[in-house]
Order: sequence, then C-alpha cells, then structure tokens
Amino acid sequence: MDYDYIVVGAGSAGAVVANRLSANPRNSVLLLEAGPADHPWTRIPVGSARMITNPAVNWLYSSEPDANTNGRRIPVPRGRMLGGSSALNGMAFVRGQAQDFDTWAQMGNAGWSYDSVLPFFKRMESYQGGGDDRFRGRDGPLRVTNPEPNDPFCATVIRAAGEVGIEHNPDYNGARQDGIAMSQATIASGRRMSTARCYLDPVRNRPNLRIETGALAECLLFDGTRCTGVRYSVNREGREAGAAREVIVSGGSINSPQLLELSGIGQPERLQALGIKVRHALPGVGENLREHYAPRTRWAIAAKGITYNDTARGLGLVRQALRYAFSGRGLLGSVGAPLRAFVRSRDGLAAPDLLLGWVPMFTEPGPKGPKISRQSGVTCYAHPMRPESRGHIHVVSSDPRKPPAINFNFLSSPVDAALTVRAIRIARAIMTAPAMAPLRVSEIAPGTDRNTDDEILDWVKAAAETTYHPVGTCKMGSDAMAVVDAQLRVHGIDGLRVADASIMPTLTSGNTNAPSIMIGEKAADMVLRG
Ligand SMILES: Cc1cc2nc3c(=O)[nH]c(=O)nc-3n(C[C@H](O)[C@H](O)[C@H](O)COP(=O)(O)OP(=O)(O)OC[C@H]3O[C@@H](n4cnc5c(N)ncnc54)[C@H](O)[C@@H]3O)c2cc1C
Repeated sequence: MDYDYIVVGAGSAGAVVANRLSANPRNSVLLLEAGPADHPWTRIPVGSARMITNPAVNWLYSSEPDANTNGRRIPVPRGRMLGGSSALNGMAFVRGQAQDFDTWAQMGNAGWSYDSVLPFFKRMESYQGGGDDRFRGRDGPLRVTNPEPNDPFCATVIRAAGEVGIEHNPDYNGARQDGIAMSQATIASGRRMSTARCYLDPVRNRPNLRIETGALAECLLFDGTRCTGVRYSVNREGREAGAAREVIVSGGSINSPQLLELSGIGQPERLQALGIKVRHALPGVGENLREHYAPRTRWAIAAKGITYNDTARGLGLVRQALRYAFSGRGLLGSVGAPLRAFVRSRDGLAAPDLLLGWVPMFTEPGPKGPKISRQSGVTCYAHPMRPESRGHIHVVSSDPRKPPAINFNFLSSPVDAALTVRAIRIARAIMTAPAMAPLRVSEIAPGTDRNTDDEILDWVKAAAETTYHPVGTCKMGSDAMAVVDAQLRVHGIDGLRVADASIMPTLTSGNTNAPSIMIGEKAADMVLRG
C-alpha cells in the first residue's frame, strides 16, 4: 500500500505531524504506532502513577549501570500508545527559555531561534490562564491550564522562596522564565490533554489518514539513498508500506536512533558487528544523549492536613474521588509536580540554570505503581536544567524487539556535579526559610548529616533518578556528529526526516513535552512547504 507520507510513532511530535499533514485532503498519510490506541488511565491525570510501571502502555526501558549511579539501573519509562509519552507524562507544561532556541540557531540551525519557534508554540495551545497575547496562544488544539489557586502548601513555599530572593512569576512561559510558580498543565476539565486526545481524536475519521496501532516499525526501506517506505509488523506478521514523498520518524529519543541503526544508518563498525548492513555512515546516531539527573530531596511535614499523605488516605481518598467526580480537581486531577522554580545558581547569569519542583506527598513502590505513604512529607527535586554530560543509546542486536543499551554518563561533567549540589543547597534554603515554620519541616534526604559537596554528591549517586527527559540522540546540526539538518532531513538520505525530542541539539530549560510538540508543528510546516 502506498501513501504520500508515513509517520512512525504517534507521540508528542508524531501525532502533531500526522494531523497537520493530513489536513490537506490531497495528502495520504499512514501513522504507525507500536502501542495500543488507548488505555483508561490516560484520561485521568492521576493515571500517570498507574502507567509508569505498566508494560501495556510503556516501553519500560532502563539504563546500563554506571559508576555515577552507584551501579544502579535507572528506570526509563516511555509512552507506548497513541499520544506516546504525552499520554502518560506528568503533564507539566514548560516551553523552556528563549535562550534555548536562540542557542540552537547560533549553532547554525536557521529557523530555530526563539522568534522563529514562538509562532509554533502559540499555534499549538489554547492557554486558559491569562498571560500576554504576544507570547500565548488562545485557539490551538492543546488545552493548557493553571492548577487550582490557593493551595496552602504551594502558597507557603512561594512565600519561603520570596524570603531567599526568588520571586513569584505568574507566567514562566511568557516574557521571562525566572522565579517560582504554580505549574501550568496539559489538563483541562479534569482530563489529561495528550496529543492523542488533542491532535488525533478530532481528525480520526479523515479518509486520507490511516492510523495503525500495534504496528512496530522494524526497518526503513530504501531505493539507493532514498527512503521509500517502512517494514513493520502487526502481531508479528510482517507488512510493508511505501511513501511516495517522505517518511517521518517520530519514535522518540530512544526508538528513533534505534530504528535508524536497525536500518543501517549509524556508526559502521558498530552496525557491522551486529550483522546489520551499513546503508549510510552517520556517526552521530544515538550519541549526544542528554537527560536531567534529578535527585529528590525529601522533607517530613509534621503539620496536619497539608500534604496528600494526610488528605488522600482512607476516607480522605473517597473525598478526593468525590471532589474529582464533581469538579475535576484535587489529587486525582492534579499535575505531577504542582510547583516549580527556575533559579540562577549565581548572580550575573543571563537566565536561570537550575530547576526545583515540588510534589506535596511521599510515595512508595506498590504492586501497581507508586502508592501514597503513611508518612507525611514533600519531595523536592533539584537539578541543573542544561546538563553538559552526554551519553549514548545504541542497538545491541539486529532484533527490533531487543531494547537498546542506554548509557547516560551522568555527572561526567564537573559543571553538572557542582550545579547539582548548588540546586540541593537552594532547595534546603527554601525549605528551611522562616515562612516554612508553621509546616514543621524536617529534612530526611539527603539528611542533615550530609553537608560537604562530596557527601551530597555521594547521596546523589546513590539515589537520583531522572525526570524522564532524554533528548538529542538524532541531533540537528551541520557538524560531523549531526544526524539531521535544520529542516530535520537525515543527512545523506533523501525522503527521510526525524521529528521528535531526539533532534534537540541541547536540552531545553525544563520539561520536554511542549518543545517536542513544537518540533512536530514546525516539522509539519517544513514538510508542507517542501
Ligand atoms: C513518566 C514521564 C513523565 C514525564 N513528565 C513530563 C511532564 O510533566 N512535562 C513534560 O513536558 N514532559 C514530561 N515528560 C517528557 C515528555 O513527555 C517527552 O519528552 C515527550 O513526550 C517526547 O515526545 P516524542 O515525540 O519525542 O516521543 P514520544 O511521545 O515518546 O513518542 C514516541 C512514540 O513512538 C512510538 N514508537 C517508538 N518506536 C516505534 C516503532 N518502532 N514503531 C512504531 N511506533 C514506535 C512510541 O510507542 C511512542 O508512542 C515525561 C515523560 C515520561 C516518560
């Protein structure tokens, strides 16, 4: 079967590309997604906790052990369903800083400066929280909202941050990112706004858009150096589809480099050693992996009725369920981390370089995912936003079902180590500021006995996880390690683009769903312009 375009992966970026390309009825589009069409937990915000360990909708990767994780394997959850990771993520909506995109442009990627990408950020959203029309979109497919105001915990931390010189910023996606703020969220009317819901549901019955779920792309097809289609399987039955114009790979930062390597695009020696025929040498495939290595500081709260540990256990949980049923609010309708601060590690920086995020409860592992602990407390993660450490992802087999090896190489840059310690010290300063006194806070982790930089870093290596933001493994650029050009075309191959978080040359300052959706919007625009 032949189409004009084939999009591989229906995640944050791929669903957007499929929507925009099929808006013209003359374009026939095939969207392939390895996972299922839906899952009941994708609709309810609290469902994130249920999906983070659920193999039905999650690739459940993990990293290779490494010295700076004390030999631990770090979980790498990734959405595997329509909507991809946007259908199971924590729903915080953060664009990043103007400087992030200006950096991409300064690296030689024409068309990616902040001024150039701002129209796509505006086009994607209908923001219902006020703000400045110069920066915010009002009628895009993705509904973005502010969480409920007057939360007593968040209000207290905002006051405490003010006492250490961090001001409240009502819109960190507006003119400037600096400051502490309630998290904006891809939640509306108590429902998760995934790209499946916002970009695919409204267009599912377009006759020129075919969506195949349970369809694992195994290999790209070529005629010489032109990509002509995709070989994929449904229930292990092999199929092929042709693309008369282009294939757009949107499998995400783990699977996009994997698919290129399985198709013979990558480092020749590595591919040959696995018996994969080399089609085109591109040494950057799978390299430049960047991620947020995020220690979670933990704080016991003795004051009653502040955290979800107090308000959402036993009968409290019934009350939360009723509240959600009637208003879509409360724990069941809440963004993962409702409060965040973008701060500077030192004076004189042009923009914030550290992120702190608060979750007003303690959880512990349960049989179906994290569950609420008996102990009342608050988790505050704290980390550099633009880490310099770089890792890599590579296939270890020619079998498309075998997970690739993920090596983060965390803290290999001394700058990252120093900034991580600084972020934890700022978290401590806020959590022990005078305004916090009524909550009767005491530090559990790292713990008051860990004070020197080395003691804090030892704890980071033993305990930190990620905030699930891998990017950069099919880097955009024009240097020898770039995989795609500024039009997202794979270097040296015709008819093939990559459009997802893997093309980011550097990690954006914050969470990565909004920039991934922007990349989908911009990719579709570039494809349609030819
Ligand atoms: C648990 C978790 C929490 C997060 N929380 C937040 C948050 O609060 N805010 C935020 O901004 N970001 C968050 N993120 C990150 C954000 O969701 C991702 O950066 C973003 O969704 C990446 O988009 P993508 O298009 O690159 O990939 P994805 O959205 O992951 O999409 C890739 C899609 O391709 C499919 N696919 C892959 N390989 C194949 C193949 N071979 N054949 C067919 N289909 C394939 C996958 O199944 C998937 O559906 C979180 C991520 C996770 C996992």
